[in-house]
Parts: sequence; C-alpha cells; structure tokens
Amino acid sequence: MSEIPGFKTVEEEIEFWETHDSADYWGEMEEAKFEVDLHQNLLHPRMITLTRRPEHCPRCGNDLDDAVIEHVARSCGHLLMIRDVPALRCQRAGHEYILEKTLDRLERLLEIENTEKLQPAEIIHIPVFSLNMAA
Ligand SMILES: [Zn+2]
Repeated sequence: MSEIPGFKTVEEEIEFWETHDSADYWGEMEEAKFEVDLHQNLLHPRMITLTRRPEHCPRCGNDLDDAVIEHVARSCGHLLMIRDVPALRCQRAGHEYILEKTLDRLERLLEIENTEKLQPAEIIHIPVFSLNMAA
C-alpha cells in the first residue's frame, strides 16, 4: 500500500488522482458515504434522472409509459428496497427514467429511515451464494 501525500491545493489533489490508481491507497482511505449511493438503483442501474417529464424518450424518441418500480439502494451500509416508485419507461426500447422530484422523495424517505428508525412495511430475506459453490 502507498501513502497519500498531503495536498496544498484542490488542483494538486485532482492532478494526483488523475495520475494515480486509488486502489493502491484503499488501506488509507476513510469510509465515506456518498449521496450517489442513494441515487443508484441497483435493480435499474441504467436509469437516468430527468428534471421534468419529456414528451418522448430522450434517447430514442418513442412514447413513454408510466411505470412503477422498486428502488433498491445502499444506505449506511445496508440494502433497502422502496416500493411504489413512479418512473417512466419508453415503449419500444425500455429506456427508463426517474424524475428529480421522485428522487427528492426517495432521499427524504431514506433520511426519515435513518433518523427516526422508520418501521419497514416488510422485511424480505435474500439468499446469498458464493460462486465457488458452482465449482
Ligand atoms: Zn427509448
């Protein structure tokens, strides 16, 4: 493991990380929570956030349908699922979109879950396997 040098300026730090592999420094890094964790839906990794509802699919121009999806995200080290999340799905190619205001609501829910220990509607169990079991 290498040691992370001290940086005098943000520019210096950016330049360093552009030319070094952060994997070499994992041992030194503190665990941090990024907001982006909440935004990444593990079930729909290619979902794109839009500020407002478009008339047609921005990627292929087909009509959009309303859809209801499940949002699975990582929050404070555990996985959680949020149901009944409105989304948009294009009719032909299946491109998926979520509106910014929906993301705001997701964020609020995760915040409540964190601070007030919101009681989940249901707890589901996930079977865990090791790929080695297919030896
Ligand atoms: Zn599309």
